[in-house]
Amino acid sequence: MQTNLSPEFKNTVDGQQAEAILRKCVHCGFCTATCPTYQLLGDELDGPRGRIYLIKQLLEGETPTRKTQLHLDRCLTCRNCETTCPSGVEYGHLIDIGRKLVDERVPRPIGERTVRWALKEGLPSPLFSPAMKIGQSVRALLPAALKNKVPARQASGAWPSRTHARKVLMLEGCVQPTMRPNINSATARVLDAAGIQTVVAAKAGCCGAVKFHLNDQEGGKAEMRRNIDAWWPHVEAGVEAIVMNASGCGVTVKDYGYLLKDDLAYAPKAERISALTRDLSELLPELVDKLRDQVSATAGQIAFHPPCTLQHGQQLRGGVEKYLGELGFDIKVARCEAHLCCGSAGTYSVLHPEIAYQLRDRKLANLGETNPKTIVSANIGCIAHLQSGTATPVRHWVELVDDALSNS
Ligand code: SF4
Ligand code: SF4
Repeated sequence: MQTNLSPEFKNTVDGQQAEAILRKCVHCGFCTATCPTYQLLGDELDGPRGRIYLIKQLLEGETPTRKTQLHLDRCLTCRNCETTCPSGVEYGHLIDIGRKLVDERVPRPIGERTVRWALKEGLPSPLFSPAMKIGQSVRALLPAALKNKVPARQASGAWPSRTHARKVLMLEGCVQPTMRPNINSATARVLDAAGIQTVVAAKAGCCGAVKFHLNDQEGGKAEMRRNIDAWWPHVEAGVEAIVMNASGCGVTVKDYGYLLKDDLAYAPKAERISALTRDLSELLPELVDKLRDQVSATAGQIAFHPPCTLQHGQQLRGGVEKYLGELGFDIKVARCEAHLCCGSAGTYSVLHPEIAYQLRDRKLANLGETNPKTIVSANIGCIAHLQSGTATPVRHWVELVDDALSNS
């Protein structure tokens, strides 16, 4: 796609990066067919091709409006369109640039600014845990809309005490230790059973995605640099990998190299961190080999929801089903629309609840066709969002493997 950058953007990093991405787009519209917001809203401007066009118009000098902002806001950043695109358009990086430039030119109403500020400062804050614990203690009294966002308290089980020569770093995440603490300890127990020690860097925290995607890109990058500083001594000491059990964090950390490429002080380290980062499911081939004789899989029919950040953002598809199947689990993805977003999408379910809940219910209906006893996923956001709409337990797949180890 030919783009004539306006003088305002011609010599800027954002302008040049966006132009390079736009140049690959041939405007074919294949991506529109797999876009969840286009499927629900039926408006070209709520699909990837329309959003790409809005960003192109902005870069060519057209003044963006609140309507432009709304169409970009409604994007889930699920990156389903990247999987579909035959031309390799990096839509995810383009929408980050588009949103930033629109927000710099279109002020948001005070109510919207307040909610977005509360989310970006509140979720990664040390105050999130005590606030959630208070919410959990009065959960039964909460109105339904709020109860949806406050999961019941969960016990985490013991952290393994053995040490091993083989070590991996793990990011605990910002909300996961409070919302579902068992996911992190189950990960450590499963890795321990395979002879791998899980190390956590005390000063690492949120991966930076929450702030970055709420358009505090500098705030997000500051969190990325803090994590790099916290992990670097462990990297130098020879950890094998930086393991992510939340695919939403993994997709971001794998992008540190790109996001910090213009930061001379951090670029080489960021690239190394991204190269070392693995979704937990990428360790499954080795885990299956090591754990096959220790696992007794008795979980019944399981439905797997592959998060967008796993199947589209990281382009990892099929691994969880294949390897859990090899361990003896009866696990299936939904027959229909397994590629579609569940509506969680980071803070999207708070900012756009109508779309988010429609997508959730559609996803649960598709998963329900397999009559699952348990639904599993690979990202805390998807797990909490899906759980808010069903009585069927929704868990991380590693918790099932952990349970199966205890059964054996
Ligand atoms: S599928 Fe790719 S090339 Fe075609 S319109 Fe969408 S982004 Fe552009
Ligand atoms: S990222 Fe998802 S919601 Fe956004 S345009 Fe692409 S397919 Fe549609």
